Amino acid sequence: MTAELGTAIDDAVDRLASRIDGNVIRPGEAGFSDAIGIWNAMIDKTPAVVVQPETVADVVAAVGLARETGMELSIKGGGHNIAGLALSDGGLTIDFSLMRRVGVDVTGAKTIVQPGCTLGDVDRATQQHGLATTLGFVSETGVAGLTLGGGFGYLTRQFGWTVDDLLEVELVTAAGQVLRASRDQNPDLFWALRGGGGNFGVVTEFVFRTHEVGPEVTAGLIVWSADDAQAVTDLFHRVTSKAPLEMTMAMLMRNAPPAPWLGEEHHGQPMIGFVVCHTGTPEQAEADLAEVRSHGEAWADLIQVKEYAAQQSMLDATQPKGMNFYWKSEFLPGLNEEVFADYLAQFDGLEAPANQIVLFHLGGVLDDYAEDDGAVGNRDAVFACVVQSMWPDGGPADANVAWVRSAWQTLKRHSTGGNYVNFQTADESDDRTAESYRGNLARLVEVKAKYDPDNLFRVNRNILPAGYN
Ligand SMILES: Cc1cc2nc3c(=O)[nH]c(=O)nc-3n(C[C@H](O)[C@H](O)[C@H](O)COP(=O)(O)OP(=O)(O)OC[C@H]3O[C@@H](n4cnc5c(N)ncnc54)[C@H](O)[C@@H]3O)c2cc1C
Repeated sequence: MTAELGTAIDDAVDRLASRIDGNVIRPGEAGFSDAIGIWNAMIDKTPAVVVQPETVADVVAAVGLARETGMELSIKGGGHNIAGLALSDGGLTIDFSLMRRVGVDVTGAKTIVQPGCTLGDVDRATQQHGLATTLGFVSETGVAGLTLGGGFGYLTRQFGWTVDDLLEVELVTAAGQVLRASRDQNPDLFWALRGGGGNFGVVTEFVFRTHEVGPEVTAGLIVWSADDAQAVTDLFHRVTSKAPLEMTMAMLMRNAPPAPWLGEEHHGQPMIGFVVCHTGTPEQAEADLAEVRSHGEAWADLIQVKEYAAQQSMLDATQPKGMNFYWKSEFLPGLNEEVFADYLAQFDGLEAPANQIVLFHLGGVLDDYAEDDGAVGNRDAVFACVVQSMWPDGGPADANVAWVRSAWQTLKRHSTGGNYVNFQTADESDDRTAESYRGNLARLVEVKAKYDPDNLFRVNRNILPAGYN
């Protein structure tokens, strides 16, 4: 028996263990550390029990256990959430690491994805058929959390938020019902799941629309000295203003890492650069990127024709699991001289080796959809601005957090008023969650009251007012 559980709850956990196909793991048992391993080392939470379902029936049983015992319930997809929302401290965590299958329906142009899949699982499967759905930039991120919070990546300008590619889900509700939701079935629930996070139930299957992408694209990274930063930001502004939907660039500013593709003399020096992905023909890409690639004296130009799946994992090594991470984000309606002045001013405080500010180009087809087409909203986002810090255990946490907060406070004045719910840290308030959903919040609360009136699903960016539970 574990110290954390009372006898009655412990007996209930034992009964669950005896009747499910998957695993039930308690602290100290084999597999527990792996099961609760998450990406951000700033988070310190230990569940009293982890359930690793193999089937939907296992999920129904685990939800029933939480409902009947009152244990706090959390859901772990890829474990990448920066606020550590995958884990419940002292409660029950459903860990989907045994449910990672992907089924590609080539004729139906759709892909069926289990909730433990990483982005890499899906990209690898779909790319075998030259297909892709809109997913994010780091392949180890979980599909479940990314999708339920909205999701964006290199394909967003072309196809929209990840939830714009979502066709259908299967979900276990707080009452233990297994429902399907789409634009035609339980449309209110489907609307809420398209951005409203883990507030409504446990998703056991996602069905995504797929598009013909790659398998080769023109993509990579190009960087210059920060001495050229003013001209590079002007270049970014010019090129993103006329970029076709097939082309996505993100600008980043940081100190140069000790990477083999950079001359040693540049290591540790401030640099500015673009991450690029162009899904058009190599000829189109060459023309669209000519101005970028001929600009100044680049420290490194790694843009090339390469596999889309390789581009999707190119940044993995820059975001290693187990470091301490602290981020802040805002959506921006556009760029102008004031934005760049505030952006470049942050170079002064850029002492930490891995701190950076990234401007992801969005826009494109996002606002072809109505603002209330899915809870995700933020259709006016033309850029996502993300201030990021990363350091190993024992590093200068306070200084890094202070730098992020200060840079974010400066850049926030350029915001649309919206921010990305999936980039919110553990210390962000309910007001920030409300800002993510803006005009869609009231409807989200109504759907929550219908499907989860007792707030069983509350280890998430909870959309009920503070103090509800
Ligand atoms: C290095 C890195 C890069 C990133 N890049 C991008 C990017 O390019 N684009 C982007 O859009 N986002 C990006 N993100 C943010 C990412 O979308 C969120 O961190 C997201 O929460 C990760 O999903 P996960 O499944 O790994 O999360 P987890 O930590 O496992 O879960 C997070 C939340 O999702 C809920 N959840 C998980 N599974 C389920 C389920 N089956 N049913 C119901 N609720 C569930 C949980 O309750 C929890 O609230 C990135 C994050 C990291 C760490």
